[in-house]
Amino acid sequence: MRELGRKLLAFVAGDEAREADIRRALVESLYASPTSLAAGAIAGLLLSIAIARIANDPLMTWCAVVISLIALARTISATIYYHKLKTGEAGTYRAWELAYELGAWIYAGMLGVLALITLIRTDDPAIHILSVSLATGYAAGIAGRNAGRIKIAVGQTCLALLPTAFGLWHVGNFGYSILAIVLLIMVVGMAEITRTTHRIVVEALLGKREKSMLATKYERLARYDSLTGIENRMAMQMRLRELFEANSKSHDALAVLWMDLDRFKEVNDSLGHMVGDALLRTVVERLTVLVGNIGHVARFGGDEFVILLPNMNRAEVQDVAERIVGCFGHGVDVGTHNLPVTASVGLAIGPQDGRDADELMQHADLALYEAKAQGRNRAVSFAWSMKERFHRIHEIETGLRRAITQDELQLHFQPIFEVETGRIAICEALLRWQHPTLGMVMPGEFIPIAESIGMIEPMTDWVIHHACAVAAQWPEDVRVAVNISPASLKSGELPRTIIATLMATGISAGRVELEVTESLFLNDEGHTHQMLRELQQIGLRLVLDDFGTGYSSLSYLRSYHFDGIKIDRSFINSIAVSREDQAIVRAVGHLADALEMEIVAEGIETAEQLQYAREAGIHNVQGYLMSMAQPAAIVTDMVLRGVTIGDAMASKLRGEAAARSA
Ligand code: C2E
Ligand code: MG
Ligand code: MG
Repeated sequence: MRELGRKLLAFVAGDEAREADIRRALVESLYASPTSLAAGAIAGLLLSIAIARIANDPLMTWCAVVISLIALARTISATIYYHKLKTGEAGTYRAWELAYELGAWIYAGMLGVLALITLIRTDDPAIHILSVSLATGYAAGIAGRNAGRIKIAVGQTCLALLPTAFGLWHVGNFGYSILAIVLLIMVVGMAEITRTTHRIVVEALLGKREKSMLATKYERLARYDSLTGIENRMAMQMRLRELFEANSKSHDALAVLWMDLDRFKEVNDSLGHMVGDALLRTVVERLTVLVGNIGHVARFGGDEFVILLPNMNRAEVQDVAERIVGCFGHGVDVGTHNLPVTASVGLAIGPQDGRDADELMQHADLALYEAKAQGRNRAVSFAWSMKERFHRIHEIETGLRRAITQDELQLHFQPIFEVETGRIAICEALLRWQHPTLGMVMPGEFIPIAESIGMIEPMTDWVIHHACAVAAQWPEDVRVAVNISPASLKSGELPRTIIATLMATGISAGRVELEVTESLFLNDEGHTHQMLRELQQIGLRLVLDDFGTGYSSLSYLRSYHFDGIKIDRSFINSIAVSREDQAIVRAVGHLADALEMEIVAEGIETAEQLQYAREAGIHNVQGYLMSMAQPAAIVTDMVLRGVTIGDAMASKLRGEAAARSA
């Protein structure tokens, strides 16, 4: 309000202080109504011609001619400027202001001069009435009409009325003299009306301008991301809709690239938000340089960015996506840090990949999900098969919570045989999920999902409890192995669960093996090591699963004292044909012997593989050749009957023959 008041004072105080845009609007108001200008012109024209005709005086005739010409010129120029204003070609307003000013003053002055001449040169009251009323009428009208520019309006009033008043005073009779005085008062009155009208007009203009400035400011806030300065989610969605509609009419392609920074959360959590913010700004700088003017970059929120690329084919879009991934391949320098972030991109191209803007976004998001699932730091193009996979993942995610409470989980066991004696030494507990609509879902599919949604801990508890309860029915020398994923160690509750289960089921700690993979050690800051050592101290056995598939750093074998290792089945697969695999398996056998670890070969499927494992000095074998994972009751029966490798192979062969003949 104070600001508005200050500006108002400046306006009322003097012409020169006015700001250019307001002044322009005021000048435009002079030309805003060519009709009223034409009305004034016609009045001047008719009355001056009438005066010239009645008086039959050459001077008055000349005056009438000049007045008519000026009226005509002003009406024409006003009409031209009015149209230019409407079409936005008005250009500089200063020249038009000057033209109006001159025209207005000369015209008003001519009316005043005409009145003066008629009063001085004739005695005819009719002519006096015509000329005086022309000047006064014009002055009265102009005070309001031209209030946009005080100088012009007041000048016109003076030029029209002062000569008229002088003429009236010159005639000298009582009535005329009073009228002359009234005209002088009228000049003051009209000037006041002009100023008041002017103030109201300026106030309205200022209000309008303030409003439009606020609207611009809020529109900016609403459309742009305050951290990075690029368009935000809302603006991007609006742009996408517009582009999609425009492109679907022309059948041109429109690509949506959805980019997400890998490991941004880690940077933010470990180095703080300031570094996180600086990283995002650097990312935007790189993206805007890379995309240039071929597309639009927007921040979708957090560490997610969306890039819209109109009119590009799939190969070109894929190329841009690869370049985006590539430009983050070596990390990002922020201050003194080189942050190891990479980027994943999902891309979808309309109209093939999505029938409307929302579907296109959804599909780019699915492709991004796929890029992350494939190991991040890559660009993946949407394919319709992803949709089915996504629905399946979604069903698994939502169903997992229900799986435990609704008894949908089952525990199967796969026997692991001792090579030397042929007996069952261990049974590995393997989860199965009987999903109500998807059927049997295997752990390789649902365990990673359970890990990602934080469901793995209750699931591990469930497995430990059921596996130990089943193992309690077996002889003392048969152990049970349970798979422990890294995520189940997060809360540190595992030892408590295990101890409670051992007490509840009555089996000894030495009969339970925990199978862990190398991934467990990657982010270990010592807690995992400590926890596992405590479990080993109470008698549990620790086994390294899938040996050879991860980083296989021998330093793990030195620092974690494993009781056993399981050679991954990928080495067993081709052991019969690959000399390298034979050598590796033999070497691992020696290593295990030297470190006093028990060694298991996973995935034995043929008698030949079994023979190689035996020759390599492998202690235990596990694989489809002897038995697949089976329900608890069947495996318990095998264990109780004392089934050996030979029995198991024979019964498998019998089973297969029966299946063939059936
Ligand atoms: P794993 O611990 O390496 O388990 C061995 C996997 O190999 C099992 O697959 C088993 O059925 C399969 N297998 C055994 N012998 C053969 C063979 O001769 N040939 C072939 N091709 N495969 C064989 P499964 O049951 O599908 O389990 C896959 C993985 O899921 C397991 O690998 C384990 O990492 C995980 N998993 C299973 N149950 C659990 C669980 O209760 N908790 C956790 N955290 N992970 C589990
Ligand atoms: Mg295992
Ligand atoms: Mg394994």
